[in-house]
Amino acid sequence: MASPLRSLVYDDSRYQKAFHLFLECSSEHQCMQDFIHKILPEILAGIGDGKSHLNVIGVGSGDGHIDLEMFSELRLKHPGVTVDYQVVEPSSQQLHSYKVLLAQKSDLDYITFNWNKMTSAEFEDQWKSKQTPKKADFIHMIQMLYYVKDVEATIRFFQSLLDKHGKLLIILVSGESGWGKLWKTFRTQLCMCEISQCVTTADVKSFLDSEKLKYKSYALPSQMDITECFTEGDEKGELLLDFLTETDHFSRTASPQLKADVLKLLRDPACSLESNGRVIFNNTLEVIIVDATT
Ligand code: SAH
Repeated sequence: MASPLRSLVYDDSRYQKAFHLFLECSSEHQCMQDFIHKILPEILAGIGDGKSHLNVIGVGSGDGHIDLEMFSELRLKHPGVTVDYQVVEPSSQQLHSYKVLLAQKSDLDYITFNWNKMTSAEFEDQWKSKQTPKKADFIHMIQMLYYVKDVEATIRFFQSLLDKHGKLLIILVSGESGWGKLWKTFRTQLCMCEISQCVTTADVKSFLDSEKLKYKSYALPSQMDITECFTEGDEKGELLLDFLTETDHFSRTASPQLKADVLKLLRDPACSLESNGRVIFNNTLEVIIVDATT
């Protein structure tokens, strides 16, 4: 039976509102920043093989905040290098915000930004049509693999671009997170859209294992306050619920049974813990660092 539910990704303005609310209610970016400043520096130190010019690709960079945090660590580990940076981002709104952010910075002259307003698949086609494609030293795809049609092909392609000592950084929700539990239970009812997938790092790791690709992983514990989701009619709660289910106006469009089942699981200890009257959802992320094939 066809699902009457519509994916949130088809309504960009509501998606962006939900995403910003999610950032406010969660420690999503804090846990990434901790990783970037504490663990990533050593990983970045190993890339480049002593070269004075690095090629970097950001896939689904969003508004660039996380990118620039990574660049500050890259610069500390590789002082004096110049960087050719390919930003691959289909949303014009995000690219605009990125450029606004750059206009406020003055110490990024060592980076040449190349804007690719396109999806990763379009970038792949463009890259393949070039006669002498360059290899990349560092590629990141942070919280974006949910939006590609073929997760495995995307990883395979970008991993193949890595130069000697290059690294591919992937961040997604962990298979052990509340998201993992939610998607495992409701995958067939919720993830109905070809460009929005319920993929976690557990799926990525089993793919990398099957391809015998070498990688390391790091769990990033993170939380999200979803208390408002349980107040009927609460605007903030409904937007968060849309984000959690990746469904446009979930409260209004889901069947009463599905809605009740989703809310029950969201409150279940498998997904959340209750503390001081708040419901705190397990938003644990995981970083996977894939090596170049040698
Ligand atoms: N990396 C950023 C943004 C994550 S949101 C951060 O962590 O803050 C996911 C981003 O992926 C959005 O900016 C979205 O526009 C972008 N995106 C969606 N589909 C994509 C695709 N097929 N290829 C590349 N990027 C995509």
